[in-house]
Amino acid sequence: MSIYRSRARAALASAQSELASNEDQHLKYAALELRMAIEAVTYDRASAYKSEFPPQEYETWQPKKVMAVLLEIDSTADSDSTISLGIEPSPGERPEVMHDLGKEVVFNLKAIKRHYDALGNFLHVPSIKQTLSGSLPGPEKIRNRCEEIARDLEEVLASKVFNSTLGIFSSFDCAECRVRIRKRMPRDKDQVIADCFECKASYTITRTSDGKFETETRTQEIPCPNPGCGHPAVIFPREVSEGEYWICEKCGGRNEFKLGILHHPAN
Ligand SMILES: [Zn+2]
Ligand SMILES: [Zn+2]
Repeated sequence: MSIYRSRARAALASAQSELASNEDQHLKYAALELRMAIEAVTYDRASAYKSEFPPQEYETWQPKKVMAVLLEIDSTADSDSTISLGIEPSPGERPEVMHDLGKEVVFNLKAIKRHYDALGNFLHVPSIKQTLSGSLPGPEKIRNRCEEIARDLEEVLASKVFNSTLGIFSSFDCAECRVRIRKRMPRDKDQVIADCFECKASYTITRTSDGKFETETRTQEIPCPNPGCGHPAVIFPREVSEGEYWICEKCGGRNEFKLGILHHPAN
């Protein structure tokens, strides 16, 4: 079990014990623990996509943003699912008997959006605006909300199967740095772009008519801007950014990408 799943269980148990105390003063502690439980179940879901999660997103910590990254990787990342197995009478034919392995319930993006910030509000002294307008959430309201979230989290954590990320993947070694690249191929797409997490290389993966995958390097040729040279260099799209450069193989000059503003004077 991942460390986040056990953290989520511990936070949920603490929230439930705060709620069971029936003391209004303890509600804020329950809200805090529930917020942590939501963070932990979302990071747990992200850990299932570890090999697909772009390292530049590691600093993302808000559950809403983490889930948004996951949904970009896999549009079903926050959907509940049931896993069943069966033997096909012949390849492609539906099995007569299916064995149910269990259901996975995910704390989805909608639930995160609905509850996470609301819980955050319970942790602060009411704002001046809230106090003036008298729109303060009463203890009853806070308790009901906390109990609802605790029930949902209990269901998520009771799932018999969890963190299944079934899909069809293409995997190959990066032609530049030899690191393995693994990319999910969504059912509804025949072409995806796969970036190497280790270097700047980038590839187009295309599904062929016989269900296999073809990988093509995404490069462009840029001629050396030295007027007397013009020797082409092969550049990856991700290398085209401020400060990146290449040394021309022919004239030895250094060509650097710069962001510029070109001024056109008024007529
Ligand atoms: Zn690479
Ligand atoms: Zn040159």
